Amino acid sequence: MGKFDYAKCPNCGKVAHNRQEVDERFGIRNNDGNLMVQSWCRKCR
Ligand SMILES: [Zn+2]
Repeated sequence: MGKFDYAKCPNCGKVAHNRQEVDERFGIRNNDGNLMVQSWCRKCR
């Protein structure tokens, strides 16, 4: 399982099960060349 294939929001419990969902529901951020998944979903931020 890759780093961007799963995410869970610690605030509301929303999950994403593949990279597309992670990108849509959480967002993938490029931080100086390092890709980072946002830990909280878009609604909770
Ligand atoms: Zn959330």
